[in-house]
This record gives sequence, C-alpha cells and structure tokens, in this order.
Amino acid sequence: MENSKLQLQMERVKQMIDEARAITILSHINPDADTLGTALGIFALLFKQGKRVEVVNASTQLPKHLDFLPFFSKLKHKIDFADSLIITCDAGSLDRFGFDLTGRMIINIDHHISNTFFGDVNVVFPNDASTSQVAFKLFSTIYPINAQTATAFYTALLSDTRYFTTSNVTPEVFDIARELVARGANPVDIAKNFTQRRSLSSVRVLERALHSLTLTMNGQVATMQILLEDIEATGATMPDMEGIVDYGRSLATVELAVLLIELKEGWRVSIRSKTVDITPLAKSFGGGGHKVAAGFTLSKAEYTQSAVKCHSQIATQITQLRILQ
Ligand code: 5GP
Ligand code: MN
Repeated sequence: MENSKLQLQMERVKQMIDEARAITILSHINPDADTLGTALGIFALLFKQGKRVEVVNASTQLPKHLDFLPFFSKLKHKIDFADSLIITCDAGSLDRFGFDLTGRMIINIDHHISNTFFGDVNVVFPNDASTSQVAFKLFSTIYPINAQTATAFYTALLSDTRYFTTSNVTPEVFDIARELVARGANPVDIAKNFTQRRSLSSVRVLERALHSLTLTMNGQVATMQILLEDIEATGATMPDMEGIVDYGRSLATVELAVLLIELKEGWRVSIRSKTVDITPLAKSFGGGGHKVAAGFTLSKAEYTQSAVKCHSQIATQITQLRILQ
C-alpha cells in the first residue's frame, strides 16, 4: 500500500522537479538536525543535477554543531526565487516555516502525525523515524545518493532517533542507515559533532532548568522552566536548549515531561511522554508533533500569566484530557 502510493508520488515529484525553473528547499523555524539534514541532503542531490536551487531557513539562530553538514554555508534566511517550486522538510503545518507561501507549488516531505497535508504532493509517513528516512525512500530511486546527501540524511536519522533509541527504530531504519554509511556517511565523525561539541551556554542553561524541576501527579509529570533571565545570564540560544526536556522524561516515575521556555514574544513549550499520545494536548494549544514528542508556542498576548501559572495551566489541561490515570 505504502509502496504503490510512494511510486506514484515519486513519479509526480520527479516531474515537478524536472519542470521547475527554480526550487526553494525549506526547513522549519528553530531548526533541528532532521529538518536541516533533510533539506541540505535534498539540496546536494538537486544541485548536482544542475538545478537552480536555494536552501532557506527563516531562523537566524542555527545550531552551530551542525555546521559540518554539507552546504551548511549555503543556508539563507530569505527566499530569493520568485515562483519557485517549494520543498518543505520536517514540519506538519505551513506556519512552521515563517514565510508566506501563498500560490506556490509545494512538495511536503514529513513524518509528523499532525501533518495538515498542506502540499500539492504530500509525502508524509508518520511511522518513519525521521524526515530524512522519508526523503531517502522518495529520492533514492530517482537520483544517485552521493556522499554529501548520505552524510546529511544520516545525521538527521541519528538525531531524530536519539541515536537509534526511539520506538520507531525498525529494521528499515537500520537498512537505510547501513545504505547511507555505504554511500559515504561517516558515523564516527557525525556522532562526534553531537557528543563533543556542546557550548558552555547549553550546559549552564541546563543547570538552571534542572534547578527548576518540579514533580506533580505522584511524580508522573515533570515540569521545568527557563526564564528570560536564565537565557540572558547564560547566553543560551534556542539550539542550546534542545534536548533539555528529555532530562524530565529520563526519571523513572515520569510519564510526561514539560519544558517552558520564556521568550520575549511568548512561551515555547516542549512536551515529551513515554507512551501516552500527547498530540491532542499540543493541538489544543495550537501546536503539534509526534505521539511522544510535541510542542507549541503561546504568544504573550494569548498568555499573559506568570510562569508558575503557566505550569499549573499545563497540569490542568493534562488532567482534563485524562491522558494520565
Ligand atoms: P520540540 O519540543 O523538540 O521543539 O518539538 C517536538 C516535536 O513537536 C517536533 O517534532 C516538532 O516538529 C513538533 N512541534 C514543536 N512545536 C510545534 C508547533 O508549534 N507546531 C507544530 N505543528 N509542531 C510542533
Ligand atoms: Mn523530524
């Protein structure tokens, strides 16, 4: 079923790319390794095909430890091509890209269960562990996968599977990882960029977040917060705060972990669970994500209360949804 649909989508995608005069590849705001690795991997493929292609991300703060990704220096922060074919990577809704894409043809490549199918073609496999897994299946029979694409796709896969530990790690994931390594991805070099290139700010802000850790509902819910003053004191950027919420979920009693990050314009909320489906919770606040990893952003206008009240509002929502017994 998935295979025959994918076959049709491959043909359509190839035709759209062949006919496009210019192509813009987009990754989502507050980018992670999956969105950037997938976007840069596709960029490497199309660039080598001689296509007129650009790779764009609306966020000006990019994760520095990902600067080893091929063509990282090609990332721009605005779309220069008019009327280009858009390829979106790793986001479930259009508002995650930070650009007005009205009237554009869109190929939507993703693995979020909350995906709204906003594209003209939607290659969305929610069971896949990373968007690069989806992209590999889509593109590997259309174009030869070169070492640069293999490096970028492997990086995305390594990161979104949290080093091959998430519940969606299947034999297919290892088959694709093996294939990417065979085609030139270096697993040792790539892993070092994740485990040995942390910024001091990221550790300092982690220290403050852990200090705020609160357990509620018999130790089942862990909440942490990072306030503006913590960000200012440590010099942390958004990429520096990625992964902090996982420390809440790492506790034995915790089923659900929440991290609230205060921004100038609002609150960024990350949620993780061990098993319960948290997408309804994220959607009820206008966000989305996966079954066990989701998030949303509240503007200050939407939410003017203090951080402590924000904690309790989240806890109330969780109770109302009865996702925990
Ligand atoms: P994180 O907590 O790491 O920022 O996000 C966890 C997951 O939820 C990611 O897969 C991310 O794409 C998704 N997500 C986070 N924030 C939002 C949001 O505001 N809207 C939607 N649709 N998805 C989000
Ligand atoms: Mn992803």
